[in-house]
Amino acid sequence: MLLNPKKHNRKYPDEKSKKIMLKTIEFFENKGKEKIKDDDHEMVWYSDFLEFQKKEEIFSTLLTPSEYGSTEDCRWDTYRICEFNEILGFYGLAYWYTWQVSILGLGPIWMSKNEEVKLKTAKLLKDGAIFAFGLSEKEHGADVYSSEMMLTPQKDGTYRANGEKYYIGNANEAGIVSNFGKIADTDDYVFFTADPKHEKYDCIKNVCASQNYVANYKLEDYPITEADILSKGRDAWDAALNTVNVGKYNLGWASVGIATHAFYEALNHAANRNLYGNYVTDFPHVKQLFVDAYTRIVAMKLFALRTSDYMRTASLKDRRYLLYGSAVKNKVTTQGVQVIMHLWDVIAAKGFEKDTYFAMAARDIQALPRLEGTVHVNVALIVKFMFNYFFNPAEFPEINLQMGTQDDDFLFEQGPTRGLSKVQFHDYNIAYNSVDLPNVNIFKEQIAVFKEALVGASPDKDQQRDIDFLLTIGEMFTLVAYGQLIIENAKIYEIDDDLLDQIFDFIVRDFSVYATQLHGKQSSTDKQQEYCIKMIRKPVVDMEKYERVLNNHVYALKDTYKMNE
Ligand SMILES: Cc1cc2nc3c(=O)[nH]c(=O)nc-3n(C[C@H](O)[C@H](O)[C@H](O)COP(=O)(O)OP(=O)(O)OC[C@H]3O[C@@H](n4cnc5c(N)ncnc54)[C@H](O)[C@@H]3O)c2cc1C
Repeated sequence: MLLNPKKHNRKYPDEKSKKIMLKTIEFFENKGKEKIKDDDHEMVWYSDFLEFQKKEEIFSTLLTPSEYGSTEDCRWDTYRICEFNEILGFYGLAYWYTWQVSILGLGPIWMSKNEEVKLKTAKLLKDGAIFAFGLSEKEHGADVYSSEMMLTPQKDGTYRANGEKYYIGNANEAGIVSNFGKIADTDDYVFFTADPKHEKYDCIKNVCASQNYVANYKLEDYPITEADILSKGRDAWDAALNTVNVGKYNLGWASVGIATHAFYEALNHAANRNLYGNYVTDFPHVKQLFVDAYTRIVAMKLFALRTSDYMRTASLKDRRYLLYGSAVKNKVTTQGVQVIMHLWDVIAAKGFEKDTYFAMAARDIQALPRLEGTVHVNVALIVKFMFNYFFNPAEFPEINLQMGTQDDDFLFEQGPTRGLSKVQFHDYNIAYNSVDLPNVNIFKEQIAVFKEALVGASPDKDQQRDIDFLLTIGEMFTLVAYGQLIIENAKIYEIDDDLLDQIFDFIVRDFSVYATQLHGKQSSTDKQQEYCIKMIRKPVVDMEKYERVLNNHVYALKDTYKMNE
């Protein structure tokens, strides 16, 4: 399951997609670890990568919907976008970030009805441009209702834009910056385009110390006409949230890429380091840490891949991707952090060395749960899906692996962002009941108690307003959906029973930790505490299976990948 760039084996329905992945791998392997690390330390703007993607027309091929594409290979295809994310994360989050914020900048454009801007965008992509998404402001953080960027109508029907944006990636060099703001006389939301080269566009500074340019910029009497407007009112608001729905999915993939590279580096180091006559990989706790790290990465990947199938088949009648995509953002990224912690406990001092990929990974992996909405914000959102998920399932046709060459049109026509609590899901028992494995069975029992607790000791009004309390419930619910999609995808990717059961070993333990946390909450009632205690379970011990997973899957990866120096 793990990406090994030197043995690339992902299947694609077309040659071009595979070529893009292989060329990108080749670019980074030729650049080499030493140069990647030097550029990281010196905070060098990655013009080499941008030149490379321009020459190979990579952003243009992957990020132009076929309707606007210059070649037949252009389409917006989440299946291949996933892997490109993963490869960039694998080599360095800085490279991923310039691509990611381009995706965000393109969101309001492809969602707009402004054909002229769309045609211009396709041309800019073809010419190798990057893009930017100007949503955040210094004083308002996640509170986009309070945006102060303002378009003031002029007598001749044009507007003047005034205001500042903060934390905006690529806003130094983007071909187009998509700006979110309000119209002064009506207070309507608006998305409009701006050009960093314009004299009224002041790129004040980079607010972060990294290879990325994360800008604070100012528009001062910047002239805007209707031709620059992407959307207004409800459409502009929906474009902001729907763009984040598309973009936040990528954060999980960056996390998968980072965790995978760090895993190879840590395993190679530990397996070749001899202490007191034994290899580090022989210590019992190191075995457990590697098994947990590996199974967590496989689970992250299975879940995120399966979510792509639901994103690619989404429609106004099937909005299940909203739950799964949010879970990729919050669960997969926090799992990535956990993987790094396991690996760091193994390699200890090595993880601080300046020449390692790991030192970069340990720093960068932390960004992913925190940006584009914190875990809290996403779990608060996820809780809205919980009632229908457990108590009001609907019938849906089965969704297969989606690796076709279709455009993911719906992602740009997601429509209203309201009504999350009305979204329905297929019955999670279908997946769980299709498997009879010891740890999956324990987890089914934990789920049954959790569901019983939701009815028998449901959160009272105060608890429902308490995000801290809801966060733990949301994490427990997320784990149920996480396990469900992992089982669904284990069939598609033919994951063997040993490995699947070992994944549920950590899922059972993690669920028990959440139950303990919920038990300890200030407001938990006696009845809720009783249920929590029932939810704390131990995975089934099967040492032979554990050793098989350790040797056949985990330690089998020793020395199978090493980046070119
Ligand atoms: C490196 C980097 C790159 C970035 N790139 C971009 C970019 O390209 N474009 C862009 O527009 N922005 C970008 N951002 C901004 C980023 O998305 C911000 O994190 C976001 O604007 C939220 O603001 P904040 O982090 O200051 O948190 P705040 O909004 O100040 O949140 C503070 C706390 O309040 C909590 N909170 C907030 N709202 C809620 C809620 N509704 N429910 C529960 N808790 C809540 C949060 O969980 C958090 O703990 C970037 C930021 C960084 C650091």
